[in-house]
Amino acid sequence: MSNRRREIIEYIDKREPVEAGGEVSDQADRLTSIYDSDTYGLNAMRETLPSHCYKKIREVMATGSTLDPQIADMVANGMKEWAIKQGATHYCHWFLPLNGLAAEKHDAFVSIFPGEEKLLLEFSGMQLIKGEPDASSFPSGGIRSTWEARGYTVWDATSPAFIRREKNGAVLCIPTAFCSWTGEALDQKTPLLRSMEYVSNESLITLNLLFNETHKRVFPTLGIEQEFFLIDRKFYLARPDLVNCGRTLIGARPPKGQEMEDHYFGTMNSRIISCIQEVEWKMWRLGMPLKTRHNEVAPGQYEVAPIFERANVAADHNMMLMDILKSVATKHGLVCLFHEKPFAGVNGSGKHNNWSLSTDGGSNLLDPGHTPSQNARFILFLTAIIRAVDIHADLLRASVAVPGNEHRLGANEAPPAIISIYLGKELDTVVNNIINSTDIQAPTSDDMNLGVSGFPPLPKDSTDRNRTSPFAFTGNKFEFRAVGSSQVVNFPCIVLNTIVAESLKYIRDSILSEMKNTNRQTAFNKVIKETLSAHNRVIFNGDGYSDEWKDIAKSRGLQNLPTTPEALVNINSEKNIKLFKESSILSPVELESRQEILFEIYNKSIKIEANSLYDIISTLVLPSCFQYQKSVADSLNSIMPFLQSQKSFCQPNAQFSLLSELVEAINNLTESNQKLLNLIKQSKETKSEHELSFFLNQTIIPAMNDVRKYSDHLETIIDDSIWPIPKYSEMLFLR
Ligand code: ADP
Ligand code: MG
Repeated sequence: MSNRRREIIEYIDKREPVEAGGEVSDQADRLTSIYDSDTYGLNAMRETLPSHCYKKIREVMATGSTLDPQIADMVANGMKEWAIKQGATHYCHWFLPLNGLAAEKHDAFVSIFPGEEKLLLEFSGMQLIKGEPDASSFPSGGIRSTWEARGYTVWDATSPAFIRREKNGAVLCIPTAFCSWTGEALDQKTPLLRSMEYVSNESLITLNLLFNETHKRVFPTLGIEQEFFLIDRKFYLARPDLVNCGRTLIGARPPKGQEMEDHYFGTMNSRIISCIQEVEWKMWRLGMPLKTRHNEVAPGQYEVAPIFERANVAADHNMMLMDILKSVATKHGLVCLFHEKPFAGVNGSGKHNNWSLSTDGGSNLLDPGHTPSQNARFILFLTAIIRAVDIHADLLRASVAVPGNEHRLGANEAPPAIISIYLGKELDTVVNNIINSTDIQAPTSDDMNLGVSGFPPLPKDSTDRNRTSPFAFTGNKFEFRAVGSSQVVNFPCIVLNTIVAESLKYIRDSILSEMKNTNRQTAFNKVIKETLSAHNRVIFNGDGYSDEWKDIAKSRGLQNLPTTPEALVNINSEKNIKLFKESSILSPVELESRQEILFEIYNKSIKIEANSLYDIISTLVLPSCFQYQKSVADSLNSIMPFLQSQKSFCQPNAQFSLLSELVEAINNLTESNQKLLNLIKQSKETKSEHELSFFLNQTIIPAMNDVRKYSDHLETIIDDSIWPIPKYSEMLFLR
């Protein structure tokens, strides 16, 4: 073991769990009072706002209606008073540009009264509602040039402002949308809010016209299970690949991986649990209802999940959670890895986006329900989803096409790259009965029902859990399991909201048009039956990991897009441009810019990986290999005179073989690394981001795999004391 690695291990051995301090221990009984205390939510508003103003803002938060600008000044003042009490000297508009991170620019509450040398603490309604950050250094995918750099941020009053505490002060963070001066969305939140509005409107009209139900608003709900790795920070700092790329680019398989199945749901290590506990308290204070925590399948892998919330709030909370996990992990001497595949050979990480639709009164539209009418409503929404996923599988696939997911989707541990729906046995039977029924019955009452014989009670909770499906029905919600662990959840959610809304509209319009010729019940049954028959090819209840599924999917005409470039190409097809344009979620320009940015992100990531790999091999791995090669050669050399003097003595053939093996492997590694460098140079000649992505995928990645193959082989034969970087067995198991 190299000195550096030994020092790290000795250090870890002595390391004690870090105390989180007063905010965590002994306070379980204070949890309810602490919950949400770091947000300017309803509780804080009630205390700081005049009652008519409080009622207005509560209404805005409950229904997503627009805020009267006059109220904004009062809210801003209340917010400022509250934030200052929490220790905040600054505020910021917190927004989600298209670089996959949260962005913020801090402004102190200070201002100087004109003509007087007096400092005032001020915050106006205008400052709350709108900010004007320079947008020139955020990715825009060609939407605006640097000379029209101004962008503006607009307050999302439905996602509570929150306090971020640092060692020497606090900042008030105000969730906002971020647009270009010409009105195009430059962020992840704007289209999410638009898609929430769209799916709400389509649901409301459908519920009203077909089921005589009146609600104020329908919200998509999201419960995001977040997987991640925690490893010791000292190991991380000694691995340039983890620092630069978030994943290991080389590393031989350790003798023990996850085959003992001893990590999943195991007792949590004390350092890990103290870190996660601190994260939980921070998130509870921020009003995120974190609920579950457990060890995941791979050694060093963990998961936390909250209780579901409205989609935009859940999405913001997930971003905040990732930030806090990173910073608290550092405090605990750990590092939190969100990459989809930080270590080859063990499971990677995803996010499971549990998604449903709920009325403002809290009725879950994907709950099968107890009455025939509730069942009919459920079947209508289900049918809309099945149709949406079948028609727009390409978009769902594209929405999870981040570089890291390429290592995960279809890699026998995560859903395949073929988008399909899992319904479970009972619901599948229901769908088949509807499709195969010949006896659509006349309505028996005013209530809508399915009018299909042999309709069993719908399952409330599906215990039959198929982990191999990318999009599974789990009793009263769908679980989109293909989302990458490092991803901002917004885009997958935008796609889901939009395609389901479009489908609801299609089905409703079809029923209304049928109703010109027949009664509502018959029209309903006919359209449901036809739609399910047309789209049930996307339903698959078998083993999504099997090769057989790839063949079946192909015969059904379903797409299998294993690589990121293939998945991204589809984004701005005519079908998708039309979908987003007609729904006003993304204009053709906005859609194209997103595609461009996703290509850019992919290309930059792969280029960084390729360059990092080349450097690590040239400057760390090869020098160690040469050193070992020399020591084996020296050792043989040193015994040669002796062997020559002892004519009958055995010949060290095995040692010669070892030296040959070394020479050959080092040669292969040197050669493959040189080839990688040449390809990196060649990649600079490609013309467009699109072309480059295919070049990187088809040429650079295989070249990197070659380099890795030789390096990993050498790792298993080189003297352990000179191997320059931490090994898998150390990073995954020592903490
Ligand atoms: P599992 O690992 O078995 O899938 P978890 O309890 O880890 O289960 O996660 C399930 C997630 O689904 C939780 O975040 C939960 O709040 C969420 N969920 C439950 N009902 C809904 C719903 N109606 N809409 C969205 N998410 C939901
Ligand atoms: Mg789950």
